[in-house]
Amino acid sequence: MRDKEKSEAFYDDVKKKFQEERDLRLAYRPEGTAQYTSDFTGDLAGYAVDPFLKQQDVRAPLNDYSEVLFIGGGFAALLTSVRLLQKGVSDIRIVERGADVGGAWYWNRYPGIACDVLSYDYLPLLDEIEYIPARNYSSGKEILNHCQTIARKYGLYDKAVFNTTVTETVWNEEEQLWHLGTDRGDSMRARFVICANGTLSQPKLSRIAGMGTFQGHSFHSSRWDYEYTGQELENLKDKVVGVIGTGASAVQIVPAVARAAKELYVFQRTPSSIDIRAEQDTDPEWADSLQAGWQAERRQQAIELSNMSLFQRMSTAQDVNSVDYFDKAKAAMENDAHADIPREEKIRELEKANIDYMMGIHRHIDEIVEDRKTADALKPWYMFMCKRPCFSNDYLPSFNRPNVHLVDTHGKGITRIAPEGPEFDGKIHHLDLLIYATGFEIQKTGTYNRIVGEAGLDLNQKYASGVRTLFGVHTHGFPNLFIMGGLQASYQFNLTDMLQTQGDHISECISHVKQNGYSTITPRPESEENWVQQVIKHRGKTSYNEECTPGYYNFEGASMRRQDGNYNGTFSRYFQYLKEAEADMGGSFSFT
Ligand code: NDP
Repeated sequence: MRDKEKSEAFYDDVKKKFQEERDLRLAYRPEGTAQYTSDFTGDLAGYAVDPFLKQQDVRAPLNDYSEVLFIGGGFAALLTSVRLLQKGVSDIRIVERGADVGGAWYWNRYPGIACDVLSYDYLPLLDEIEYIPARNYSSGKEILNHCQTIARKYGLYDKAVFNTTVTETVWNEEEQLWHLGTDRGDSMRARFVICANGTLSQPKLSRIAGMGTFQGHSFHSSRWDYEYTGQELENLKDKVVGVIGTGASAVQIVPAVARAAKELYVFQRTPSSIDIRAEQDTDPEWADSLQAGWQAERRQQAIELSNMSLFQRMSTAQDVNSVDYFDKAKAAMENDAHADIPREEKIRELEKANIDYMMGIHRHIDEIVEDRKTADALKPWYMFMCKRPCFSNDYLPSFNRPNVHLVDTHGKGITRIAPEGPEFDGKIHHLDLLIYATGFEIQKTGTYNRIVGEAGLDLNQKYASGVRTLFGVHTHGFPNLFIMGGLQASYQFNLTDMLQTQGDHISECISHVKQNGYSTITPRPESEENWVQQVIKHRGKTSYNEECTPGYYNFEGASMRRQDGNYNGTFSRYFQYLKEAEADMGGSFSFT
């Protein structure tokens, strides 16, 4: 409950501290997103190697045609393929860099991996597959298995080529087809290309001086080397391990490594907010009571719920310990009796509820972490939802173990790595293994491989002065190209819901082209301009992101990149926009 004695000055002081902590971090890293690199060539080439690939398959280069070609074989491709098959479109090819389907869940197999979205919502096609997840939050293994089950059930393995990265995608005007090149020397042609290559698929590393000189073993969290650690991490018992980063990946990695390693050093720049993870086995009685169509019904409800603000929704996604604050804030925003309250006051009310929640997170740390200095260093000083919230019952207790050491860099981060290990404050931490849990490029799907559309226009060139799309899916000048999970689309905490929504829309578009005997679909320039303006309008509505501590949610502090972000209207509105466009295709698209 909110402490009645808290004065306005209390909230102002906390806000001031939030601002100081943000400014400190911005001053340390004025280069913003450029502090990271995802160009894993040269010295960094080892970080891109696929540790799960048992043996590189030998095959001759392909030179053929598919009606629909997916770049990427994760949930985006799987869900859209299923819809296309249901619509009678079966000439599909999936081109995937990994050695199996699964995307994020293929690559991320670190110990402790699990999803923070309820499994009954996150795992798609549960009705069709007749599967009920074992627990309310699925492990990474269960999710990867589910992807494989979908691929098997719908015959998608026959349509996939693995260990293959598309390197260029070029529109051929004369043939009205896309020509694709790969790192395996293939020359593929396709009528429709769907960029399904991931929202969080390209790992990134902080550019740290001396990285290449480290003499121990190292890898990125999404390329876990079980050969080094052992399947049960048994090889770490005599090893000193370091983890750089304290985001959602590290929060799951740290407890497992803490239990297994001789010593663990966690190098922290900004703490995550850690709330309780209300985990449980699936109730068999509930599972038995489910009627056909149950998941679709849940999904509809989730779309309706998306009218709530994001942080209100988060409070329903997990049993957060301060849920009453959100109820209070929601009441303040929605209560008709308060209709005459000025907007500024309502915003202040929300702000106070948010600060109360974050102070609850601080109290939670104090209750669990025994050492006062460590507890204080683990406290996040920013508004809830400035960074991706985390949920774990094991992360904070890890810091009570005698073999676990928090190296808090207070916003500065690790800036130098010596041959022996990371250096901070004049001290070199000698490590055997260094794990980079430094995150991923965000929503760059569609811009990785060279995409060249009509009149030789490169997509990155088109985006140079600002992203331009319709719904984040279509972009003028690139006929029959569809982008999934990219910028200017809506955001949904449950990503599979978002991908299903876009996949359904893309399937409708492809069906429409085929049924009407057209060759191409392309968004009308005026529809695209309209959408860009919608994105800008919603992004300009609040200074919330601007006031946040830097992170990938606000492009490391460059929050007002106008159209280069998500569509921040609600997900249900986004969903409606897609349906409206499908009902009047000619209004949004031109066809040849
Ligand atoms: P993040 O981008 O969230 O975190 C990267 C971390 O690295 C941050 O703590 C960052 O600090 C830190 N960092 C970067 N450079 C340095 C440096 N030089 N010194 C010290 N620290 C540094 O990546 P994650 O892989 O953790 O998560 C990415 C996303 O993937 C999540 O937000 C989530 O959406 C998804 N995910 C979901 C999971 C789930 O459902 N449970 C699990 C894992 C990932 P700073 O904060 O200061 O920038």
